[in-house]
Amino acid sequence: MRTVYGPVPSWRLGRSLGVDPICQNACSFDCIYCQIGPTIKKTYKRDVFVDTKRIKRDLKEIMPIDADIVTFSSCGEPTLAKNLDEILEVVRDIVDLPVAILTNSSTLPISKVRRILRNFDKVIAKVDAPNDKIFNEINRPIKGIHLGNIISGIKKFRKIYDGELEIQTMFVEKNKQYSKELAELIKSLDPDLVYINTPLRPSLVEPLSEKEIKRITKDFEDLKFRSVYEYRYRGDVSPLDKEALRRRPAQ
Ligand code: SF4
Repeated sequence: MRTVYGPVPSWRLGRSLGVDPICQNACSFDCIYCQIGPTIKKTYKRDVFVDTKRIKRDLKEIMPIDADIVTFSSCGEPTLAKNLDEILEVVRDIVDLPVAILTNSSTLPISKVRRILRNFDKVIAKVDAPNDKIFNEINRPIKGIHLGNIISGIKKFRKIYDGELEIQTMFVEKNKQYSKELAELIKSLDPDLVYINTPLRPSLVEPLSEKEIKRITKDFEDLKFRSVYEYRYRGDVSPLDKEALRRRPAQ
């Protein structure tokens, strides 16, 4: 499995060069809508999944690249990589682009992770539920992970972070009636931007309709937001990009 892929077109990030520090389906969640399918390795243990030298080699091989941003993303949870800080250093040395990371937010309660994420230009953190009941039903986290801890981790992070903190929230049947509560909760995190999403990529869960998402966006009017139906990428996608898109998680 390649550690570097794309650039792929992203409705959130433009042309994004992906860096995968996990390269396996290892995640602390098992989201019902995950486009990878059920989580194979459910773990909350931070570990070295991919050697930093391998990422350095893969990155050097594809240079130069025409992209807008480098995005740490994975078919698992990228912040579980214990060598995340080392990998970020390698990327900074080789590529002169802003660097973002997509996270499911589960490791934000860990101070060391917050310190590492501070060094990214953009952190896109997932919040799909306003309470533990819905959190357990949608994100199906590993035992011991609670929404309250994640929310306080994100709030602590916001205080120390000068970059762009963006929240992505995935709406499906199970949480659509909680959009008001979710909007209030997300507002308390003081994000720079909110992505309102629904699984338009292949998923075991049906996406909400454009009309339903439009109704939901009304609850987010106090916040700066982008909705997937309005901003999804409509340009041409090359076969290489299609392959890369297939590998990308629905984070
Ligand atoms: S959607 Fe993301 S956070 Fe959820 S199970 Fe898949 S990889 Fe993990």
